[in-house]
Amino acid sequence: MDKKLEKLGIYIHIPFCVKKCAYCDFYSICDLSQIDAYVKALIEQIKSYRSERKHYLVETIYIGGGTPSLLSGAQMCEIIRAVYKTFKVSDDAEITMEANPGTLDTEKLAGYHNAGINRLSIGLQSADNAELAMLSRIHTKEDFESSFYLARLEGFENINIDLMYALPGQTRETLFRTIEYVTSLEPEHISFYGLTVEPETPFGQNPELLQKIPDDETQNALYLDAIEKLEHCGFLQYEVSNFAKPGFECKHNLNFWHGKEYLGFGPAAHSIFKGVHFSYAKEFLNFIAFPTDKDTLYQEFEKLDDDALEKQYVMLGFRLKGGIDVKEYNKRFGKDFDEIYFERIKPFLDRNAPEADEPYIIKTKTGYRFSRKGFLLSNELLRKILDDEEE
Ligand code: SF4
Repeated sequence: MDKKLEKLGIYIHIPFCVKKCAYCDFYSICDLSQIDAYVKALIEQIKSYRSERKHYLVETIYIGGGTPSLLSGAQMCEIIRAVYKTFKVSDDAEITMEANPGTLDTEKLAGYHNAGINRLSIGLQSADNAELAMLSRIHTKEDFESSFYLARLEGFENINIDLMYALPGQTRETLFRTIEYVTSLEPEHISFYGLTVEPETPFGQNPELLQKIPDDETQNALYLDAIEKLEHCGFLQYEVSNFAKPGFECKHNLNFWHGKEYLGFGPAAHSIFKGVHFSYAKEFLNFIAFPTDKDTLYQEFEKLDDDALEKQYVMLGFRLKGGIDVKEYNKRFGKDFDEIYFERIKPFLDRNAPEADEPYIIKTKTGYRFSRKGFLLSNELLRKILDDEEE
């Protein structure tokens, strides 16, 4: 009889973009002539894990970038086939691919669907063409709309749309128009992230744009109002920045937030595999030349001890709307959550916390979770909760 297989998520990085968006610091290159060589190297790297077949069952595959939709349906098919040849893959695996509206057509979408992709994540960011131009996105709202409907026609029944807020010059009106438009299309999932300004990007070095970013108070109000609007439209928040129709939460990301293991392929991809955190260097030419040479490609390599895993579990658990399940924590780490954390959490359970008309942390039937206001301050709260000096 088969030994019980460990569950695993797989991330595959496609590091190509038509052009760099001004705000983006994800690892990608714009030399599209290298795509064929990259796909070949990627497949070689994936296949080098064949000996793990007897140990793992892949539950989710996430193909992100960069712009995965620069690959053809046939290339995507080859990559996914390599995963199936290398690992056992669950019959109902969630297979997500990120797509950029400016790069989709009927033939590609049909190819992706035939390749087994069953969840599409489309990066719209804003439905305001002036905001899209300011972000230097390669598409308009109209390009997005035709991509969305084409995807539906080709059979995609699980679609995420990425949105951003806190954009320079964005107003409550433009944001709400975007949300109204997107919810009217009835996707299954919406991701809603605040713009992060990365100092090394053209965006981060443009004082005129930086000046137009809404201040913290306005950003917080936009976030809270947007959550309410999204929930009102049937998209339930299940994580700080993620909303879904019931039953359409992203399994791949949920596994990550629950501290499950995942294996990443491609330059810049991270993994937490067999208790080790590692990532591949952002070195494209080395990757193509030596896709299976770990000595050349490893950039970081850290063995996660119990303490690190436990802290990561608490940090990621609080990002989820459901929060921390105390029983599950106690069982997993052989510790008593309340004994370690209750004193640190207690001040934030207090309804009279300054400036708060609701507590930052709420006691649930199974443990503790951040309130909406807690989500706004999640980084600060987590620093205080996780810092053992701070008692
Ligand atoms: S398309 Fe996505 S990955 Fe590429 S530059 Fe723009 S934001 Fe970054």
